[in-house]
Amino acid sequence: MFSKNRIEFEKKTVTKMIQFYCKKLHHPKDSPFCPECAGLLEYSHRRLDKCVYQNDKPACSKCTIHCYKPDRRQQIRDVMRYSQPRLLLRRPHLVILHAIEGLFNRKGKKST
Ligand SMILES: [Zn+2]
Repeated sequence: MFSKNRIEFEKKTVTKMIQFYCKKLHHPKDSPFCPECAGLLEYSHRRLDKCVYQNDKPACSKCTIHCYKPDRRQQIRDVMRYSQPRLLLRRPHLVILHAIEGLFNRKGKKST
């Protein structure tokens, strides 16, 4: 029961993020998603269905098993990078956590 909810929650989250990203950047006309994003969405849902953790699933960003193909992984990272901070703005308590996390991350960031 719980495992199903966990996966369902992840699916809802990823759907929201892709939808937001696609709407803002791709402006699909006849459907909520452009073909590219619809493909990514379907792919990410399939990965969740096959997630080896199921019951004990951590957040995908913290997962040590990278189950996405490299090109799909790049796509979903772009989506996350765009949608996450913008969707977080609607949940102030998460923004604070995010900001704190960002401070720590910046300190340890490698210069390129
Ligand atoms: Zn799109």
